[in-house]
Amino acid sequence: MRRIFIAGNWKMNTNFQEAKELIDAIYQQTNSHDIDVAVCPPMPYLSSVSNYIKENEHQKSLQIKVGAQNMHWEEKGAYTGEVSGTMLQDVGCTYVVLGHSERRALFSETNNGINKKIHKALALGLLPILCIGETLEEREKGKEKEIIEKQLLEGLTDLLPSQIETCTLAYEPVWAIGTGKTASPEIAQDMHAFIRKTLTEKYGKNVSDSVRIQYGGSVKPQNIQELIAQNDIDGALIGGASLKADSFSKIIEICSLSGK
Ligand code: PEP
Repeated sequence: MRRIFIAGNWKMNTNFQEAKELIDAIYQQTNSHDIDVAVCPPMPYLSSVSNYIKENEHQKSLQIKVGAQNMHWEEKGAYTGEVSGTMLQDVGCTYVVLGHSERRALFSETNNGINKKIHKALALGLLPILCIGETLEEREKGKEKEIIEKQLLEGLTDLLPSQIETCTLAYEPVWAIGTGKTASPEIAQDMHAFIRKTLTEKYGKNVSDSVRIQYGGSVKPQNIQELIAQNDIDGALIGGASLKADSFSKIIEICSLSGK
């Protein structure tokens, strides 16, 4: 049984005041307690957001965890501008998003580098959210499954099945991120089923039954119901709609009531 997992990727948005207001409003607008929820603020606010949540979560039915949007695979050293997994843990992170398509496209991240980050995160006990997704061009050429399989298997190289079980995967078609174009529930389910089948073939059914696969790409209150109803969709990684308390809370409530 996979517990629904909703995560908000704030990207390079919010300041601490806005972050506090967002958290307060999410608490006010949600009653959920039976799904996992995380927010991923920009690096400078991880510590203060995590402390703010700890100070305010008492008697709230919703438990919000904090995730980072990236990390380095090394522990420490001469890596100007980088942040280690140990540092992320130190400031209260539970999760770390790795391999987001914006990092792949804008910062030249490779499957190999992402794999090193996943190894390090897991060794430390941080829970990775591995993002995979094809571009529009790749889909138009009919190569979407080939791309997803490669990103998946290279991202998970040399991990033990027991480690893979603790990872979350986020299928985020690049053409759907921040564009307002969501993948239809059928397209998303088809790819999620393919990802699960690939996991079964390579790592066995226990792994594929355990791994949560989020969908990401223009998720909003208006489309989450149909998406979450799909067999292999276990939650969502949300960009734009996670910056507005109304829409993020609504998505949480819809998922919580989905009966999954
Ligand atoms: C994302 O950044 O991971 C994302 C899915 O963004 P959006 O929801 O804005 O498409």
